[in-house]
Amino acid sequence: MKTQRILIVGGVAGGASCAARLRRLDEQAEIHLIDRGPYVSFANCGLPYFVGGVIASEDSLLVADARLFEERFNVRVRTRTECVAIDRTARTVTLRNLADGGQTEESYDALVLAPGAAPLRPPLPGIDLPGIFTLRSIPDSRAIRSWIEQTRARKAVVVGGGFIGLEMAENLVHRGVKVTVVEMLDQVMPPLDAEVADRVADHLRTHGVTLALGDGVAGFAESEEGGLRVLTKSGASHAADVVILAIGVRPETGLAKAAGLDLGARGGIAVSAQMQTSDPQIWAVGDAVEVPDGVLGGATLLPLAGPANRQGRLAADAICGRDGEFPGVQGTAICGVFGLQVASTGASEKALIRAGVSGFEKIYLHPNQHAGYYPGARPIHLKVIFRKEDGRILGAQAVGEEGVDRRIDVVAMAIQMGGTVFDLEEAELCYAPQFGGAKDAVNFAGMVAADVLRGDMPIVHWDEPVRPDTVFLDVREPEEFAAGHRDGAVNIPVGTLRTRLAEIPAGDDLRVYCGVGQRGYVATRILLQHGRAARNLSGGWASAR
Ligand code: FAD
Repeated sequence: MKTQRILIVGGVAGGASCAARLRRLDEQAEIHLIDRGPYVSFANCGLPYFVGGVIASEDSLLVADARLFEERFNVRVRTRTECVAIDRTARTVTLRNLADGGQTEESYDALVLAPGAAPLRPPLPGIDLPGIFTLRSIPDSRAIRSWIEQTRARKAVVVGGGFIGLEMAENLVHRGVKVTVVEMLDQVMPPLDAEVADRVADHLRTHGVTLALGDGVAGFAESEEGGLRVLTKSGASHAADVVILAIGVRPETGLAKAAGLDLGARGGIAVSAQMQTSDPQIWAVGDAVEVPDGVLGGATLLPLAGPANRQGRLAADAICGRDGEFPGVQGTAICGVFGLQVASTGASEKALIRAGVSGFEKIYLHPNQHAGYYPGARPIHLKVIFRKEDGRILGAQAVGEEGVDRRIDVVAMAIQMGGTVFDLEEAELCYAPQFGGAKDAVNFAGMVAADVLRGDMPIVHWDEPVRPDTVFLDVREPEEFAAGHRDGAVNIPVGTLRTRLAEIPAGDDLRVYCGVGQRGYVATRILLQHGRAARNLSGGWASAR
């Protein structure tokens, strides 16, 4: 059998995974890993922490280097080499050596495109002023670090409140820089629903980050006092010694487009479930491709490291004649912000509404990350969205200091397996007091949702419009009530409710709440069995905005 000559363009998450897998499957293939940057297989995800000094050494960012690829995998690594054209008929690519500008033609039997995505840098006035950076590579992070050190930067503006923007905000604060985040939307962390993202915003403010939400950047100018000014559409002007643009990425599709490969509706390279492009000899993986949205249907772009790595493996499998299909994505992601874990999986409520999906319900709950009696118990603020018809889980979002990752991972796996809230109710999860609960946060989510679906606990949400006959019944203790309550609420603690039913005003819209929803549930059960049309306010007072 003829030796396959395989060229991989882009040598980081998707490309490097593909190269290593190819070698494990085919000892004879001739494999070339090509990258225009100085490194392959580096940790983009660690870059904000290198800027912040949490990761002290640049070497730590190199997951694997050229030598390892050559020695362990017999893969020829060619850095500072850009692929500038593909001739699909001749099955050749044109490579430019960025050191001397020389060009060569190289033939391939299989070509893998893993060129990633480029940070957006809109053509705003002043965008090219010194001190305005994007972050994608080790040289980018080095440039930001040395700019901060050379200019002794004290003030930064981060444009964009997504996960890279917030990680940069934290790391700049870590370096002693005062940070303002300017975000066009009226919330941070765009994939989350606003009421969940509000908790993240509050946390950022308590760590000294100024948030300018609902305001887009209009341009940049040099400041008379030195440094820069970031000008916004509302007319505000924010002083900055350094500006980080983190407003998203666009798939690197230039090569694919010029070669006449099909692009998809979302602007990424169109691929099959085997990561094959419209040319059967060319595969594409990672941030550059669009993939099926496993929850909402249709195609989506999801620039995350996990999918890129798995797609790289699948492309290698396909090239070597193995079966395997990429199942699509559901957007499972996590971000750490000043000790807060923020994670989500599946569809958000706003994405469902945008997609025209109805017939879903949502619940809020605030269980502890481990047994309440064990020292250090902290709440996880959890929102779970599911189909009313059959309980199928559509999405979940969580914020908390600990244990958020595990809960969202469990729900993510349930979604991937087509699971329902009834599956969460019965999930068998590990437990000891310092790790979880005998009824874990995930079980609680399932139980609450299942109670709703079985009609055992009708719920209502804080944003549901109030009616003339609405009665708010607060079933917490008087001291909790005194510390803050819904205007006009009647306070009858759950422990006295059975003897004080006559005090509850008449009306068919009785909304019951407690601290987090648990006592409200007990009260709702009592009231329902006494013939009152009671509904529990989901998440209790902790979910009131
Ligand atoms: P990349 O890793 O970007 O690699 C593409 C490579 O191709 C680049 O080195 C580029 O130079 C090269 N290239 C492009 N065109 C050519 C060409 N014509 N010729 C030669 N070489 C070319 N994801 C997570 O899941 N979790 C995180 O915590 C996380 N944090 C991140 C933090 C930052 C700061 C950044 C920038 C990204 C982060 N990501 C994170 C996203 C993740 O890094 C990407 O999704 C992933 O690296 C995509 O892999 P890829 O192989 O598609 O592209």
